[in-house]
Amino acid sequence: MGKTIIISNRLPVQLQISNGTLNAIPSVGGLATGMKSVHSGGESLWIGWSGLTDEDTPKELESDIDSALKEHGCAKVKLNSDEIDGFYYGFSNRTIWPLFHYFLKYSEFELNYWDTYKKVNQKFADAIIKNSDEDDTIWIHDYQLMLVPQMVREKRPDTTIGFFLHIPFPSFEIFRTLPWRDEILEGLLGSDLIGFHTYDYERHFLSSVRRLIGLDVSFNEIYLDNRVIKVDSFPMGIDYKKFRDAAISHESKSQDERSDLQVRLDNHKASAPDTKLILSIDRLDYSKGIAKRINAFEYFLQKYPEYKEKVRLIILAVPSRSNVPQYQLLKKEVDELVGRINGELSTINWTPIWYFYRSLPFESLIDLYTSSDIAWLTPLRDGMNLVAKEYIATRTDKSGVLILSEMAGSAYEMNEALLINPNNFEQQADTLKRAFNMPMEEQVSRNTFLQKRLERYNVEVWANEFMNALKENRDLGQAFI
Ligand code: UDP
Repeated sequence: MGKTIIISNRLPVQLQISNGTLNAIPSVGGLATGMKSVHSGGESLWIGWSGLTDEDTPKELESDIDSALKEHGCAKVKLNSDEIDGFYYGFSNRTIWPLFHYFLKYSEFELNYWDTYKKVNQKFADAIIKNSDEDDTIWIHDYQLMLVPQMVREKRPDTTIGFFLHIPFPSFEIFRTLPWRDEILEGLLGSDLIGFHTYDYERHFLSSVRRLIGLDVSFNEIYLDNRVIKVDSFPMGIDYKKFRDAAISHESKSQDERSDLQVRLDNHKASAPDTKLILSIDRLDYSKGIAKRINAFEYFLQKYPEYKEKVRLIILAVPSRSNVPQYQLLKKEVDELVGRINGELSTINWTPIWYFYRSLPFESLIDLYTSSDIAWLTPLRDGMNLVAKEYIATRTDKSGVLILSEMAGSAYEMNEALLINPNNFEQQADTLKRAFNMPMEEQVSRNTFLQKRLERYNVEVWANEFMNALKENRDLGQAFI
């Protein structure tokens, strides 16, 4: 049996160059953690872009970079800044991202972007072929690399290839508008196993394959030439233990060990013990429904004015893709909304919204999760939404209410949350009131179920289930031959 090769747009290592010296820092994101059991020792290789364009890479450091990456089991795909513009900011984030999140009007169908996407996908495929053997197992990740499975299959007809999509797959009626829809489907069909977060995304994909390419589809299997392609759902989990342990050690911190943020949160609680904190954390992305949430908050305070001075909304918006125009417009919209509402409603003792536009370190996220009575997450579309899972994992005493959009993939596994339609302000105002008044026994009962499920289906289980299904498919295929 060969090695496991993982491919994603970004490598799980951050390269930093300062004063001519190179630092490689492993990243701690969800995917990197989940892949730990898959990406271990010398039996695996992770291929991706290092985050440095060719223009930003000093020639004299080129071989140091390769050795540093090799130490972390990684190999890089070299990309220049034009390629990043067309492939990443262009086709991935101005065509596919909006379309797959149902923002049809934001989706740009630019031939230039498409050509660069194809070219860069070919670079990734070439890197796989260069670094792998026929008996290796290949796992390709996400919407930036949808053509790679077929590109590898052409050169390596018998190799085992899995693909996982981390964002929604839209309904056929949306997907069909893409000028390059057949090419995208054919690219994905180079895989032996295609995984999605939810059964609905899987169903949408199968329906597009049947209606656009006319292939035989039976339950979750697609028949193409003499191959059987399996399609299945694998909802991604979190590193439950990491969040839970962090919350436990957070509780045992002495006064002196508390962060500035925690001191501020504690002071707030001490000065207004009957005020509740509502938390929302997202990348500043139009799919997350941040502006609508702020409007819904204002509506809540109009409908139930008795909650003025009794609630505070904390918004952590993480900067994202800020050179794409839609994201700049959204930033302006959110800044203005927060300014207007705080300007109109604040009193001497109360600011309704605390707004942070930045990325926070892990410890600060834990401060926010553990200090907030309610988490309110209202994406208009979201492949999964891990923040919802992380909030629940940190609630060591099982208190806390999660209000979650039914448009998030995680809503399918989190039925005990208060599920809402983010477009329905009436329902959201009533749900906020309900959350505010939810008896402790009910909070504990709901969170007990949620925590058990999150603990069992953690991110490592997710990765292993995908790999096992991929290997099973390969073994079946070999038995068939
Ligand atoms: N996150 C972070 N720093 C921050 C805020 C959030 O690292 O300042 C993390 C958060 O813990 C979560 C991820 O970013 O793991 C967001 O994942 P999610 O699935 O909710 O949304 P995505 O950004 O992938 O669309």
